[in-house]
Amino acid sequence: MRVGLGYDVHKLKTGRKCILCGVEIPNDFGPDGHSDADVPIHALIDALLGAVALGDIGKHFPDTDSRWKDANSIELLEKAYTLVKSFGYSLGNADITIVLEAPRLSGYIELMRSNIALVMNTEVDNISIKATTEEKLGFTGDGSGISATAIVLLNAVGNLQKS
Ligand code: MG
Repeated sequence: MRVGLGYDVHKLKTGRKCILCGVEIPNDFGPDGHSDADVPIHALIDALLGAVALGDIGKHFPDTDSRWKDANSIELLEKAYTLVKSFGYSLGNADITIVLEAPRLSGYIELMRSNIALVMNTEVDNISIKATTEEKLGFTGDGSGISATAIVLLNAVGNLQKS
């Protein structure tokens, strides 16, 4: 088994779409960035890459590369997970925390979990997503940014005979 941890931050900007875990949330501001700036998915990708010591999202999908301009981060997740699987690992479970002051995400969490479970070909029970505020403190508290952390556990596959 291997574990990986990911963390990501983006500024929030008026007029940007608010896409989190592939769900477009009706809102008048959203994360700014080169891709769709899906912060929790970026954290999850970094956790996956980190678990196999494959570097980070910037190495695999650099924001200087026009291929990833406005990229759908769910598709980047699919690519990153395909890479991880090619090294002989599959997802055990993932746990994600999204930190932002607004909007409230409680009505979207189940759809977010389903999106990730679908692309990672796993049960929804293996995908946990939580949202919290930071009590109006710091850059998430004043609404200037959003952050997310993700942790994953990967299981080695295909070597059951050795264990
Ligand atoms: Mg990012």
